[in-house]
Amino acid sequence: MEEQVLKVQKIKNGIVIDHIPCGMALKVLKILGIQGDIGSTVTLAMHVKSRHGWKDIVKIEDRHLDEREIDKIALIAPRATVNVIEDYRVVKKHRVEVPEVVRGIVRCMNPRCITNQREPIEPEFYTVSKEPIIIKCKYCGREMGPEDIVENII
Ligand SMILES: [Zn+2]
Repeated sequence: MEEQVLKVQKIKNGIVIDHIPCGMALKVLKILGIQGDIGSTVTLAMHVKSRHGWKDIVKIEDRHLDEREIDKIALIAPRATVNVIEDYRVVKKHRVEVPEVVRGIVRCMNPRCITNQREPIEPEFYTVSKEPIIIKCKYCGREMGPEDIVENII
């Protein structure tokens, strides 16, 4: 497993997000707010063979993730692992987990939902299913699937 993670290019300090579903690496960068103008090196490996089929890998140097960002990753890559690299070594490895309650990280896709009105209320969803992921708005009951979630991550 370690070998797979490090195959692309070793990084000195930063994070490696592994086991991203094939084709989702760019979306992961997008939800982390990473675009071309950041100061650190980002390495993408797309369509990498793994024991469980194909996957994408993202490596970001000199970057850490907070819990909110890890939850966002879980919503689009429920089986991802986040490896924290220090001095070329994996010092921490955690599996993301789809939260039971999704608060403040996804916008409700129903334009009439109270969370989208003039005085916005923080959007909140219950997780109905984890694979495939389906979340349900606490306020209007609208259910959102994987593509809806990707489009509406805040
Ligand atoms: Zn709603």
